[in-house]
Amino acid sequence: MTGPRVALLGLHLEANAFAPPTERGDFEALCALDGAEILDEARKPNPAMPMEMVGFIREMTAAGPWTPVPIRLWAAEPGGPVVHEDMEAWLTEVVKRIRQAGLIDAVYISAHGALTTTHHPDGDGMVWSTVRGFVGSRTPMVATVDLHANLSDIAIGAIDAVIGYRTNPHVDQRERGADAARLIRSLLQKVELHMLTARIPLVAPTVTLLTEHGPFADLVRAGQEVQRQQRSIANVTILPGFAFSDTPHNGLRVCVTGHSPETARMAVRQLCRMAWETREKFQAHLTSLETTVSYAKQAMEGRRPPVLIADVADNPGGGARGNTVWVLQALIQGGVTGAVLGLHIDPKLAEECQQRTLGKRFLATLNRQGNSGFTRRFQTEAKLLAHFDGKLTGSSPGIFAGRSIDLGPCAALEIDGNIVVVASHRKQCADPAFLTSLGIDLTAARVVVVKSRGHFRAGFSPYFTAEQIIEVDAPGLTSPMLSRFDFVRLPRPVFPLDTEANWTAPM
Ligand SMILES: [Zn+2]
Repeated sequence: MTGPRVALLGLHLEANAFAPPTERGDFEALCALDGAEILDEARKPNPAMPMEMVGFIREMTAAGPWTPVPIRLWAAEPGGPVVHEDMEAWLTEVVKRIRQAGLIDAVYISAHGALTTTHHPDGDGMVWSTVRGFVGSRTPMVATVDLHANLSDIAIGAIDAVIGYRTNPHVDQRERGADAARLIRSLLQKVELHMLTARIPLVAPTVTLLTEHGPFADLVRAGQEVQRQQRSIANVTILPGFAFSDTPHNGLRVCVTGHSPETARMAVRQLCRMAWETREKFQAHLTSLETTVSYAKQAMEGRRPPVLIADVADNPGGGARGNTVWVLQALIQGGVTGAVLGLHIDPKLAEECQQRTLGKRFLATLNRQGNSGFTRRFQTEAKLLAHFDGKLTGSSPGIFAGRSIDLGPCAALEIDGNIVVVASHRKQCADPAFLTSLGIDLTAARVVVVKSRGHFRAGFSPYFTAEQIIEVDAPGLTSPMLSRFDFVRLPRPVFPLDTEANWTAPM
């Protein structure tokens, strides 16, 4: 192949400072692609990898000749900060591979953007600045990130342009990867582009960041309007960030890339001002567990439409363990039956169920490892309804659409007249196939509980409207009630934690 030689690399981790550390094995369990494996995986009909890399490769190929230089692409489920030594080893290998690759004309980085290590709050800054130091200041470097990214000035300084997701639930990874390919093509043709950026002291609870409606949806729309109106602007990215990373560089960041620095600066200012003026709307409002149970009871008795309860505080997609039993126990105590709950992450119980006889009752122990954090041991009689190996393809619509998913051994248990789906690998219940693969009929369910913050909204939209969704206030590692956490590194004062936080647009 001829054309520009573009290095492909990335490390995806949404790091939650309050969760147990993420280790090398957590990446190996989800996505640890080295060298040519990146291209092999991207060619598969259902790749098990961040889809922005797939979108980038396809767009680069469609636009003309190029030579991919696949380096390393690793991703783990959201979890605690990565073990620092594991991160250093990963980066050393990246540098070695770049050195061996020879001439590099450009670099594409596919990252989450909220990476921290056990010793360092700025993992992305470490990776990006190291790569920049190696390829030199004149080599175009473009990164794509999740909108839950907290980018430091060091990360920003290392990159020519940052492109963030515009959808939450995230369904535009391929498109943003394609955007990155177009920007890299422009930069390779010596088109002059400037990225202007600013950060405001607003750390929004995750539930306020949907893009279908609400204050963040308005902000994203305004950003796209600016991009449409100003022909000199190539990309508008708004990154509200991920509060639980607890870094000094948390806060809502606006990045605008364009040909005219002055136009880009004005757009940054306009969008920051809009975000700040609407800050009161970025406050979490959840439904108490008691009220949720009464709604569930009404739904069960046909006195209100079916409800979808989101256990937002125990979201594996934000680093939680996915195994608290607060909602399950409250529903049982409230006399609710016929509810479907998933996924309860419990590898030992899931494995045990693979050996047991279908239809038989037994004494099930949830969380047999005992109490820790928000997780409690719970022993109860259960009936084994179904089990399967947990391998499936993400359904559409949904954030996992077309992706190969491995939940590990799974089982459906009947507990006090409700169905609990137990899985082995930690993953948020964002796809109805996680439940229907066990023979559960969601069209008949009047109460469904998902351990997911918001990504379930895409997948479950054929079953539940937005009005039927209840975000329950139960204890957990990803509770949107930020005042319950002991943040130590967040820049303070910051809204909405500190109502006195202030910001004025620079002149
Ligand atoms: Zn995200």
